[in-house]
Amino acid sequence: MTKIAVAKGDGIGPEIMDAVLSIFNAAKVPLEYEVVEMGKWVFDKGYSNGMTPEAQQTIESLGILFKGPMETPKGKGVKSVNVTARKTWNTYANKRTFQTLHGVDTVFSKAGVPIDITIVRENIEDTYGGIEHMLTNDVALSRRFITRPGSAQVIRYAFEMAKKKGCRRITCGHKANIMKLTDGLFLEVFYEIAKEYPELKADDVIVDDLCMKLVSRPDLFDVVVLTNLQGDIVSDLCAGLVGGLGFAPSANIGDHISIFEAVHGTAPDIAGKNIANPTALLLSGFGMLRHLGLMQSAAMIENALLYTLESGQHTGDFGDKNTPALNTTEFANAIIANFGKQPAHNPKPMLQDAAITPTVFKLEHNPMLESNEEMNEFIVGVDMFIESNEQPTVVADKCLQHTLDLFKLVTISNRGTQVWPKGSVFTNLVNQYRCRFESVGDQPLTQIDIIELYKRLTADFKVCSTEILNMWGDKKAYSLAQGQ
Ligand code: NAD
Repeated sequence: MTKIAVAKGDGIGPEIMDAVLSIFNAAKVPLEYEVVEMGKWVFDKGYSNGMTPEAQQTIESLGILFKGPMETPKGKGVKSVNVTARKTWNTYANKRTFQTLHGVDTVFSKAGVPIDITIVRENIEDTYGGIEHMLTNDVALSRRFITRPGSAQVIRYAFEMAKKKGCRRITCGHKANIMKLTDGLFLEVFYEIAKEYPELKADDVIVDDLCMKLVSRPDLFDVVVLTNLQGDIVSDLCAGLVGGLGFAPSANIGDHISIFEAVHGTAPDIAGKNIANPTALLLSGFGMLRHLGLMQSAAMIENALLYTLESGQHTGDFGDKNTPALNTTEFANAIIANFGKQPAHNPKPMLQDAAITPTVFKLEHNPMLESNEEMNEFIVGVDMFIESNEQPTVVADKCLQHTLDLFKLVTISNRGTQVWPKGSVFTNLVNQYRCRFESVGDQPLTQIDIIELYKRLTADFKVCSTEILNMWGDKKAYSLAQGQ
């Protein structure tokens, strides 16, 4: 018996979790459950991260959390417990599998186009760091972190998973044509790791093109790996291809702790009525069983689910409106009654149960801190983000009074578009400029030089933010302004 932590969640959470656990119990799945306290009512009890210390300790000692959807109280300034859980335990890979389910009508199932796509979304970094500042009354800034070790971790997971599943193709979705350094780094790491997996066809697609291709030829895709925000959007798009969030499972995989949950929310409009569809949570449960090596239980129950869907039994949110809908409990019982039956489409093979990879629970050190930096790094300038509602030439004149012999003013941009020394009168301006200073004669600068410039600029402006301009060897470690 393996013990896992279970958090039933809010809204429809307890109803769908009870339905899924009743199916697992009927199938004699060799799992024990320790129910932990997480969710809205835990926030209400005064725990600002939405979980009790005992819940955190249990999850950290068991390593697996099976959870229902949870509500984040609005207007209390607290962070989502769902996101806190994913980040706290470094579940760096969000894996979502989308497959055609016969009995769940979609445009593609009607057209006979089969779908079996796995989206692997980076789960920690990107704009989800939530590092945001108001630079001026009118200008907000979000910092987007993409890191080499963070990208490598999720991309390696995606390749390993694709190899184990016997996939043919793995695609990197990105926007590296615009975000050359951040998405460029993700893409670079993707192709570095691809070299280790010559058996897989690795390619990349710009994310907007990817969306267009996914809705026109979803059958061409197999595994797609993306950064966090793009992955968030594309995975919901894929949920739409197979019938909606009610059929979208999710696994948040980490090296030490993994979380399995449905993608949908707490559905407050139908909570307490016993009419919610438990399929997404059940599909997430299959991912968890396979993660734990319980291949036979997963295949047996999944075949029963597929058979049930094929036979037209459904909850109220999908299926043929001319046949009566089952409630949550009845739907679970219908699946139990179909144990041992084989679906006509895509039956799951009865693989042997696999030994579980032992998990190391205590991190002795953080290997991601170790960087293979080979190139010389030196400072050649600084971007000063300043507040001003004056014209670019006025801003430039003021800046030029503070450059000493050390700095030259290279460019001024507004919302990323160059407005000085050249620009267009048609460029709209907001009250925040980026003034780029570089060293005279490309001489290396020190941080003290930059502080001196900062101090001098404060005579004329509020400096809202600064970014150092580095060179790695002969490569600029910063992007140019549009039009520079
Ligand atoms: P939602 O997914 O809860 O509901 C959207 C619509 O889908 C509703 O009409 C709902 O009735 C329906 N629906 C959702 N799941 C269903 C199911 N299993 N069976 C039948 N119908 C279902 O989205 P929302 O209304 O935007 O969010 C409600 C709450 O859930 C919010 O507090 C939000 O923060 C939270 N939420 C939690 C998670 C999570 O825990 N992972 C994810 C998303 C939203």
